[in-house]
Amino acid sequence: MTIRGASAPSPRVDAPRSVPGGPNALVYLGYHFAMTDATWILSNVRLADLPSAESREAAASIAAPAAADLVIEGDHIAAVHPVGGAAASLPEGTPVEDGRGLLALPGFVNAHSHVDKSWWGHEWVSYGGEATTQGRIAHERAHRDELAIPSVNGAQLILQEFLRHGTTATRSHVDVDLGVGLRGVENVLEAAANLGNALEVEIVAFPQDGVIRRPGVLKLLREAAEMGVKNIGGLDPAGIDRDPVAQLDGLFDIMDATGVGLDIHLHDPNELGAFQLDLIIERTLAIGAQGRVNIAHGFALGDTQGAAGRELLERAAEAGLSWTTVAPPRTSPLPWRGMVQRGVGLGLGTDGIRDLWNPFGDGDLLKVALAFARLTGLRTDEELAEAVALASTRAIGFVHRERHGLGVGDRADVVLLDAQNVPDALVRTPRRELVVAGGRVVTRAGELVNL
Ligand SMILES: [Zn+2]
Repeated sequence: MTIRGASAPSPRVDAPRSVPGGPNALVYLGYHFAMTDATWILSNVRLADLPSAESREAAASIAAPAAADLVIEGDHIAAVHPVGGAAASLPEGTPVEDGRGLLALPGFVNAHSHVDKSWWGHEWVSYGGEATTQGRIAHERAHRDELAIPSVNGAQLILQEFLRHGTTATRSHVDVDLGVGLRGVENVLEAAANLGNALEVEIVAFPQDGVIRRPGVLKLLREAAEMGVKNIGGLDPAGIDRDPVAQLDGLFDIMDATGVGLDIHLHDPNELGAFQLDLIIERTLAIGAQGRVNIAHGFALGDTQGAAGRELLERAAEAGLSWTTVAPPRTSPLPWRGMVQRGVGLGLGTDGIRDLWNPFGDGDLLKVALAFARLTGLRTDEELAEAVALASTRAIGFVHRERHGLGVGDRADVVLLDAQNVPDALVRTPRRELVVAGGRVVTRAGELVNL
């Protein structure tokens, strides 16, 4: 950092440093940010040009324009100048962070996470239980208490890992069930607040253990909607509840009464999944909820080929559905280009990481974008840039942002990487040299600062 005055705003930390992911990580509690209205300069960065959420064209150019200076004021980008221009326009003593000509991307938007249920920070937990969806649910319910799931500290550790990798907004499913009630939602909101909301979290109250088969869960979901969460969830209405009409009617009743959105996990594949997509489309149109329904995973859309697949996609577009995917291997790729062309939203997410469902993941959304590119067979520069856009600018609808980017007026969420251009950043996923979240520096050289 070259200093013309004081240093750029950094988080204030009251807890000692510990090894990320290691057992001592549990001492992270007490970490919070000093609020600031400071003005400072992020100089000499190459601004990536990603397509906006509204654009129906895939990314056309990978060229990063000439280096620029960003003026950051409080939580937003106040001005963009040619290199050297920012300092000349501001008073002597304005802090300057030297961007060293690094590539700048807008912060990542993790559109499908589960920040309440990780065992990050604990000793390694070996995979156990049965490999089916029902088997994972049962295994989690049997062992989550031993791992203090959910808790404020557990959620905070995951949010910190997200920030470390450049994610500055996420939509997180949070388990709501007869065992934990709404405690998980409260824990996650408290964890985000402890981080000064540097990472913005939008909640989905998620009935992981089923809806109709667990009487009382619909009432909990309604309470969650009434307490202000933006979305309720659902889960395989056929595969888990074995009563798709009853589950969907219950969920859509709550949506109709409260105006909340629906973000439903649909693992059920092929015809069974397509049948449930039909039921969802029908109900979305019936209550006028276009734009408020997301399908998480929704493998059936990729499974359904030919004319039937095209028709399903047309109907999904008409109902304003969107999709989120974590690009798991050995699944049918989603028809991403047709989705972009029809304005069907598509976001990427980490899903659960290091939890009782699976041992994988580290919170790096850029790696998920790489997995998506590989699963979907993306190779050209514009396709690779599109994968990165899905992890950022394309995904703002999932966190109810009006705008997101590196322009004047955008929230100052900036990720610097040592990469030639956007495709190079994607295929190498290099460490995040600097992360700015809501106007504050939170990561330097791949590590959370001041921990
Ligand atoms: Zn999930």
